[in-house]
Amino acid sequence: KLNKDFKVRSKKALFAKPKPVRVLSDISFELLEGETLSIVGESGCGKTTLGRCIVRGMNASSGEVIYHTEGGESVDFLKLKGKESKRLRRDVQMIFQDPYSSLSPRMSVFDIISEPLIANFKLNKSEVEEKVAAIAEKTGLNISYLKRYPHAFSGGQRQRIAIARALITQPRLIVCDEAVSALDVSIQAQIINLLKDLQEQFQITYIFISHDLSIVQNISDRVAVMHLGKIVELATVDSLFGQPKHPYTEALMSAVPQPDPDQKKDRIILVGEVPNPANPPSGCHFHPRCAYKTDKCMQEAPQLRLVGDNQYAACHYAEQLNLRGAANEPAAV
Ligand code: SF4
Repeated sequence: KLNKDFKVRSKKALFAKPKPVRVLSDISFELLEGETLSIVGESGCGKTTLGRCIVRGMNASSGEVIYHTEGGESVDFLKLKGKESKRLRRDVQMIFQDPYSSLSPRMSVFDIISEPLIANFKLNKSEVEEKVAAIAEKTGLNISYLKRYPHAFSGGQRQRIAIARALITQPRLIVCDEAVSALDVSIQAQIINLLKDLQEQFQITYIFISHDLSIVQNISDRVAVMHLGKIVELATVDSLFGQPKHPYTEALMSAVPQPDPDQKKDRIILVGEVPNPANPPSGCHFHPRCAYKTDKCMQEAPQLRLVGDNQYAACHYAEQLNLRGAANEPAAV
């Protein structure tokens, strides 16, 4: 179970010792090879922190990330040091949200893409050139672009450069953190299609962090919903969008746009502030904004548990509630 604390100093006590605030709490899930697992939730719920902890861009406070190597070994990625850690790091890459700031403006496209390759493998100049040209072609980048600098490109092209850089070490897992959020809708579709094609060709596993539920519905095999640093629901994309089992998921689903304009949908507006992780509510952390809460919810924290076919939810009443999915229909009972 993965946990992450941030040390936070109160505004009212600037000279006091900073206190730990739990931003990821008991996160536990299994990732299946070749799948796309999306992570959704409001901003501040911990999705980006989780992605960074998984790729070791940030140290988790406790817990483990067990990695099953191709040789059949199981190792805790977070405990590896030196050469072992370097070897696994090239198997795990991250693509960031902002294609405008995630690429160094002082490096040519060739240098940006080849950097992880040179850092991880002993290759001569022509081998590097060959591999960069091959990956540029796979990601839809013209070879003539390689001598140019990132500022000469549009957002979509820059994200292709970022994808080429992430792919050059042939990773098994890529964490895409809001990787298409900053792009126009038509460019988003192109990049999503590119990610899907590459997944098929190279059997890559994606963790796809996003707040855009329409994209999540399109790209995911499974979806984890996070609320205040915890996973509150984890299910296949069809179950989650069709028959959510957690009231917070139901509220998120009510915001998914309907393709048919005649099918009006009542959006569920969550009343109240997003709770403060430094002072979380008692019992179920969602209870101050939950329309279904009871006294039990205010006292007892629900655990994430199996509530349906491959569907996990952290709600005391997951089996009893008849919640609406993205199509606005209550689940059949
Ligand atoms: Fe709502 Fe209670 Fe379920 Fe929490 S446990 S989501 S408060 S019904």
